Amino acid sequence: MRTAEQSTSAGGAEERPGCPKRMVFGPCGGVRDDGGCEVAPHPCVFLGSPLPRWTDPTPPAPPPVAGGLLDRAGTGPVVLTDLTVHPFDPASVRAVVAALAPVSDGLLVGEHQNRPDLPPTLMAQEVLAAGGRPWTTLACRDRNRVVLEQELAGLAAVGVDGVLCVTGDGRGPGVRAGVSSAFDLDGTRLAALAAAAGLTAAVPESPDAPPVPLRPQRVAEKERAGARLCVLNHVAGPARLAAFTAAARAAGATLPFLASVAVYTDERSARVLQAFPGLHLDDAAVERVLAAPDPVAAGIAAAVREARALLAVPGVVGVNLSGLASDGGPAAAAAVKAEVATMIREDA
Ligand code: SF4
Repeated sequence: MRTAEQSTSAGGAEERPGCPKRMVFGPCGGVRDDGGCEVAPHPCVFLGSPLPRWTDPTPPAPPPVAGGLLDRAGTGPVVLTDLTVHPFDPASVRAVVAALAPVSDGLLVGEHQNRPDLPPTLMAQEVLAAGGRPWTTLACRDRNRVVLEQELAGLAAVGVDGVLCVTGDGRGPGVRAGVSSAFDLDGTRLAALAAAAGLTAAVPESPDAPPVPLRPQRVAEKERAGARLCVLNHVAGPARLAAFTAAARAAGATLPFLASVAVYTDERSARVLQAFPGLHLDDAAVERVLAAPDPVAAGIAAAVREARALLAVPGVVGVNLSGLASDGGPAAAAAVKAEVATMIREDA
């Protein structure tokens, strides 16, 4: 692992004045549809070109973990399932992992601005102990550079399958008033640190967030920084996804993609996804599910249909089952996602 001093490199670019997240490799995925900043009342400062380019050397890629998600992606479609649990509750982690691990190639541990949970390294240990393969989301919002380095060292030591390196969404108004946000780093620079720590780094991208024409190039820059997998936010359908992955390939990205599949079976789980900045769901499909006589069965069927369509897109090696899935709590949500995952894997 590089020293802290070596790790302070900005990757060959400078912080962009006016970005509340202090990003160097922006824009973040939260840019509003009208180009407004996710956090402050002004346009995103990254809207115009040029896009910041990663010009530092790319850290060598660690080999995929044997039997892990990227290893399995070499032989067939993979399923990365979001882990939704009761916060600070190891028993809930064990119960949800028990339901999801047997039907998932990886479990994505989230990092939410309004729902803190166990420290990432400790959570990863719990998932591993329960029989899951953790992909840990690490966000730059709530940890300064030193603490991010500590967590990366810890995650490498406990043996996670990979790390999803994100800048992090801004803290919502009224959430934990008086709590500061760090943003010493952004997701791109965190991916470089993760790779240098010997971890497989994944990064997100939001194809439909402005500035849409610059988003494919962002994937290539993140790969140059060290990313080995890209998890794409929800888009309106497979044609839009195919256009994006083709544009990313044309921009020089060679890494594999996971496509997000929206899993919702009731009003709340659907509306939370629809309200998330940078996400575009098929709104007509959402309304059909909510109006169905059995919304749970309809939601499961819709997710499986969407997954099948997205898996046919070139460059897509798997899906990320994301969203709350159910308003009925973690056990109900896990049961829904487990059924979706099982049906997807039956196709493989
Ligand atoms: S939208 Fe994101 S990247 Fe753009 S200025 Fe705001 S915080 Fe920065």
